[in-house]
Amino acid sequence: MIHDFHYLKPGTLKEALAMYAEHEDCKVICGGQSLLIVMRQGMIAPENLLDIKHLNELNYIKFDEKDGLRLGATTTHRAIEKSEVIKKYYPALVAMENKLASIQVRNWGTIGGNLAHADPAGDPAPLLIALKANIKVGSAKGERVMPLDEFFVDYFEIAMEKGELVLEVHVPVTQPKTGIAYQKFNYLTNDMGIVGVAASVTLNGGNTCKDARVVLGNAGPTPRRSKKAEEFLIGKALNDDVFAEAGKIASEDCEPVADIHASEDFRRHVIGVLTKRMLKKAFEEAQGK
Ligand SMILES: Cc1cc2nc3c(=O)[nH]c(=O)nc-3n(C[C@H](O)[C@H](O)[C@H](O)COP(=O)(O)OP(=O)(O)OC[C@H]3O[C@@H](n4cnc5c(N)ncnc54)[C@H](O)[C@@H]3O)c2cc1C
Repeated sequence: MIHDFHYLKPGTLKEALAMYAEHEDCKVICGGQSLLIVMRQGMIAPENLLDIKHLNELNYIKFDEKDGLRLGATTTHRAIEKSEVIKKYYPALVAMENKLASIQVRNWGTIGGNLAHADPAGDPAPLLIALKANIKVGSAKGERVMPLDEFFVDYFEIAMEKGELVLEVHVPVTQPKTGIAYQKFNYLTNDMGIVGVAASVTLNGGNTCKDARVVLGNAGPTPRRSKKAEEFLIGKALNDDVFAEAGKIASEDCEPVADIHASEDFRRHVIGVLTKRMLKKAFEEAQGK
């Protein structure tokens, strides 16, 4: 059962930030796809709910060939999935969204809500980190920007101060000769992943790796880069053996837990397999550019 709360509905972002600063014990609600579940389970019972779903100022997809992609926090998963410009410049984002939950959840859940919820199994974070995304947060006192991989602190914990909202996700322009891939492993289609892996590979002419990111989902308290796998890849001539070795390194460079869905060993095994496959996919895409 959900406890009573005061419902706050600001008309503008400025009003929202002022209300958020004024009210103690206040939780933001956007699509409510995650928040209402934890409220119904009685895990939290905030006195005030600040509804930002209808703030059009935060609902946008902007793309510029020099600046890259900017997603307002209240942009829905479905809007990202259906965006022609994202399909053209960041096809891996469209493919990821297409496998995130049901159409109903995608129609209402938002990118800002997904990232702020900080579920380690969330799909967008590993891919956005592989894409070198930054996140903009702001309060009535001002705004700040940080790399997305510094935003996640612990299970369901993020680097936000009191009164701050997620405002925007910025994805820079992808470097030439770069391929990006993401896949989760799940038992039910479009369910949360048992684990997920995002990989990006930038080639330095030929088959040599100039830059790489390997980002693991649900392999620890937060989405995490396997920096050991990345360091191993950079400067190497890429081939199947190298991808397999990087997979082995990534499977050891993480902290997956055992739960009712999978053992720790199984998670490590799948991380190894997916890392190898995603690196190969990213590599082949980079070769074709
Ligand atoms: C059936 C089901 C299946 C799902 N499957 C998947 C899946 O496969 N992959 C996946 O990644 N996710 C999945 N999800 C999670 C879903 O993607 C997220 O719940 C959704 O994106 C959250 O967005 P929201 O706008 O509904 O956030 P809300 O539920 O409104 O909020 C979530 C949290 O973020 C905070 N918040 C929201 N917006 C902001 C903001 N702008 N600034 C600061 N804090 C904010 C809230 O206070 C709350 O703590 C699933 C959810 C459901 C219900």
